[in-house]
Amino acid sequence: MQNFDIERLRLYSDPLSNNLREKIAKKYGVKKEQVFVSNGSDEALSFCFYAFFDSAHGKLLFPEFTYSFYPVYCDFYGIGCERIPLDRDFCVDIDGFLSRPESCGLIFASPNAPTGIGLSVEKIKYLLENYPQDKVVVIDEAYIDFGGESAVELTHDFRNLLIVRTFSKSMSLAGLRLGFVIGNEDLIDALFTVKDSFNSYPVNLISQIIGEIAITDDVYYRSITEKIISTRDSFASELENLGWRVLPSNANFVFAGKEGISGSDIYLKLKNMGILVRHFDIEGIKDFVRITIGKRDDMKHFIDEVRRAF
Ligand code: PMP
Repeated sequence: MQNFDIERLRLYSDPLSNNLREKIAKKYGVKKEQVFVSNGSDEALSFCFYAFFDSAHGKLLFPEFTYSFYPVYCDFYGIGCERIPLDRDFCVDIDGFLSRPESCGLIFASPNAPTGIGLSVEKIKYLLENYPQDKVVVIDEAYIDFGGESAVELTHDFRNLLIVRTFSKSMSLAGLRLGFVIGNEDLIDALFTVKDSFNSYPVNLISQIIGEIAITDDVYYRSITEKIISTRDSFASELENLGWRVLPSNANFVFAGKEGISGSDIYLKLKNMGILVRHFDIEGIKDFVRITIGKRDDMKHFIDEVRRAF
């Protein structure tokens, strides 16, 4: 930003974000035409819902517990949906999806939120091989860089697969509002059609330029995600040593609970100590709280407080 010539803001940004798309394409081994960029991945998700899912062809499937915006978009666009329960281990249930081929498409996050559990590429491949190939499958990989297995390579074999990514999590640029989608050219084209109908110059110049710098700085980002992963893993085992149940996480948070105390009591107790975690008052996950991984000192403070008060 210090080198940015502010005069450049007199002109509109490139409506196709060509330079940024080229750099993203190079990084993921696809063509520029297979990349769409958006104002945060929420915008890309919204365009996917609008472009590809239609109740006339069945309901949209997504996991019972997942990113809370999926049902919001369904409501907004009038798309009927069916929530597929997670399996016994709180994993996204592939067989549950496959038992409903009459659906109009499916979407899930891998790693999922708020559980933090990702699916293996092998399982995703099995799903794609057995799900109707004329229906779009969207995988939201917002948290993928914290140890999940990306399904990007499967976009070469499955023309109905779209991978949605964001600069908000592992790239620490949530305020930039930048996301992107990788997939088959025809589907990416459809996203451009939707985008152009809403707003002709969507991603601003500053975001495009910072995005170009960030996407090419692998060394820096690998070092910070590795730090978060190692803080998460040691935090999770310390919490387990204190008798907590911690789901195996591939994200920058853990989903954890303690037998004998409800999730809402954990939430309130921590809140009184000045520690904010997320609690979902929903049957099935109400005994858990989602704890974001902060700096090592933050997590040490958390463990010290838990040891003292629980
Ligand atoms: N997907 C998931 C699973 C998320 O948790 C979030 C962030 N709340 C998003 C997408 C949207 O992120 P953004 O719009 O900042 O890219």
